[in-house]
Amino acid sequence: MSGENYGIVVHGGAGVMSGLSPEQQKIIETKVSKTLISAYKVLEDGGSSLDAVEFAVSEFEDSPLFNAGKGSVYTSDETQEMDASIMFGKDRSAGAVASVKKIKNPIKLARKISEETKHVFLVGDGAESFAEMIGETIVDPSYFHSDKNLKRLKKAKSKLAKNNIVEDKIGTVGAVALDKYGNISAATSTGGMTNKMPGRVGDSPIIGSGTWAQNGVCGVSSTGHGEFFIKFQVAKEVCARMEYLNQSLDESATNIIEELELVGATGGLIAIDKEANISTPFNTGGMIRGSITNKADLSIAIY
Ligand code: ASP
Repeated sequence: MSGENYGIVVHGGAGVMSGLSPEQQKIIETKVSKTLISAYKVLEDGGSSLDAVEFAVSEFEDSPLFNAGKGSVYTSDETQEMDASIMFGKDRSAGAVASVKKIKNPIKLARKISEETKHVFLVGDGAESFAEMIGETIVDPSYFHSDKNLKRLKKAKSKLAKNNIVEDKIGTVGAVALDKYGNISAATSTGGMTNKMPGRVGDSPIIGSGTWAQNGVCGVSSTGHGEFFIKFQVAKEVCARMEYLNQSLDESATNIIEELELVGATGGLIAIDKEANISTPFNTGGMIRGSITNKADLSIAIY
């Protein structure tokens, strides 16, 4: 199937976002727009949505601006544990990785798990051994160190009882794209939540919660308080309501984020449908987001 429309939407996390200086906003917006333009070029040149989303997310993982890869936040034990997932809507092939501590680009490993193993989800030591075996870039955990994120942890600990988690100003990253062949892909990567318990896994690597891609319907990447996104199966739910209730992308996505708010769940999502319509609802102070499609020019926003 070949579609006329194509495009990509990305996020850099939903959260409080208050107190971002105009300079910080500018730096974030510049990174998001540069990444989007390059990822869109992949689609324009006839590349696959899977390549476009993997590229966008790995760019964000290499930046200290976001809570993924290099910028990952700390657990209560002052370690950094990363989660990621990727899905291809043509055949629902998917790969996910959780609780890895020395993989430079967890999203690339997630894709390799999808394409080079019989499995969907690898965690911890097993995921890292596989990464070593296939020559994925391994770094010393000190690569992820950041004084700023350590300060965030200390602040969270001083405010909250042990093992409580806090909403961060920097965010999880994700990308969802539709290519010229009608293929929808989605990818999400995160360091989780500051002060999470070691071993805690959120929604980001869970297919159906943090990430979902289904050709002919939609693709979604979520961000927010992961425990709720798992319990409400947010990413798949957006597509399910479109499919079964005949809702539009925006109706479905917006309703779900509103419903989450009613139970005290904070967060947002980005989504694209088979016609390259985009929806980016959130119920937090802000969500770093941007999109380009063949129908709509580059747009970037935080609030
Ligand atoms: N959803 C992520 C998690 O719970 C965090 C986030 O998106 O900010 O791990």
